[in-house]
Amino acid sequence: MPAPLARNLTEDRPTFVTHLECSATGERHAADVLHGLSAAGKPLLVRYDLEALAGSVTKDQLGARPPDMWRYREFLPVRRTEHLVSLGEAMTPLVSLSTLAATVGINGEILVKDEGRLPTGSFKARGLALAVSMAKELGVHRLAMPTNGNAGAALAAYGSRAGLETYVFCPEDTPEVNVREIALQGGQVWRVNGLIDDCGRIVADGKGEMGWFDVSTLKEPYRIEGKKTMGLELAEQLGWPLPDVILYPTGGGTGLIGMWKAFDELRELGWLDDTTMPRMIACQAAGCAPIVRAFEAGERFAEPFPDPETSASGLRVPSAVGDFMILDAVRASGGSARAAAETDLLEWTRRAAALEGISFAPETGACLAVLAELATTGDIGADEQVVVFNTGAATKYVEALRSPLPRWDPATDWGTLA
Ligand SMILES: *Cc1c(COP(=O)(O)O)cnc(C)c1O
Repeated sequence: MPAPLARNLTEDRPTFVTHLECSATGERHAADVLHGLSAAGKPLLVRYDLEALAGSVTKDQLGARPPDMWRYREFLPVRRTEHLVSLGEAMTPLVSLSTLAATVGINGEILVKDEGRLPTGSFKARGLALAVSMAKELGVHRLAMPTNGNAGAALAAYGSRAGLETYVFCPEDTPEVNVREIALQGGQVWRVNGLIDDCGRIVADGKGEMGWFDVSTLKEPYRIEGKKTMGLELAEQLGWPLPDVILYPTGGGTGLIGMWKAFDELRELGWLDDTTMPRMIACQAAGCAPIVRAFEAGERFAEPFPDPETSASGLRVPSAVGDFMILDAVRASGGSARAAAETDLLEWTRRAAALEGISFAPETGACLAVLAELATTGDIGADEQVVVFNTGAATKYVEALRSPLPRWDPATDWGTLA
């Protein structure tokens, strides 16, 4: 008998993928064969027979399964149970932030979905668990990616777990913890004296010679499907209505796009009690805010952001392949895209962590700074229910969150000690 917790990973379950679809042109691509981008060079989306899915599983059946992301197997593309690659992706808790809510003047509810508790300490685990499972299913042996850190750590961990080779390229100022954990968990890792686009170019150039499959953000179809489980989990945890507002730290945008896809599928299935969608707020750092600029300019595509700089390394994505999908979702939801100044995002990371005891990543600090501002301006109403995604654990950001006691301050001012 397998342990009860492994049931989602050991029992066969039906799958419902019909085809893949180009996110820009809608052109169909065959399922069950290896794909990168679509023929038009845009991300591919996995499509399901939702009617058949609805007939095969109920909310109650889902609710009775062990609490990990694989309870949503019917919503996911992996056909064969033996191809599932897992490190124990427990459902992440929704924790109420009542002290923070009082601080920013929200009487409703602020909840954090704490994704820092996933394997490798960030929500990148969800996407890479799926991408690596599908790589295994489709017969790939060597995976490569450019990364600002967390995606690479998850790739190395899941790749090693699956017995696949992984090659990871990071900008040289990627947090040290990430580089070390990639190496520790069996990945081959290089520091590159450039930005993530430069790392991406190295992967593209090496593909032919090295036989790499490129698992860059949105350049393969399955990381979105893994991130989709954040939206499924959130809906289930809230009892199938969705919150009024979601603040999401946006880099490449897979999380926001994936969650939006989850809500769309749930709406189509008729599983949502109220089909009003949450307002999606894409939060970025002022030092790298291409989506915010495009949103403010009324554009559907974002210009590359020059000289990107922020300690919230997951947000240092100067150009996102899925820009139009992020902007479409944000606009369709009635939300917005907002940037937080670097000092504000770091200040809010520290402040909220100290108030609530949650290990907030600086990426989330951008959301918290935006939340404080929107609560002040009334764009978020005092009675609304707000969910903030904490996409990673603070323990991965020792450099960014270091704050020594300034020697020039009076010796009695211990307030900044850290
Ligand atoms: C990658 C990353 C992000 C950005 O995620 P996207 O879904 O690609 O926008 C945010 N926060 C952390 C901690 C990350 O690692």
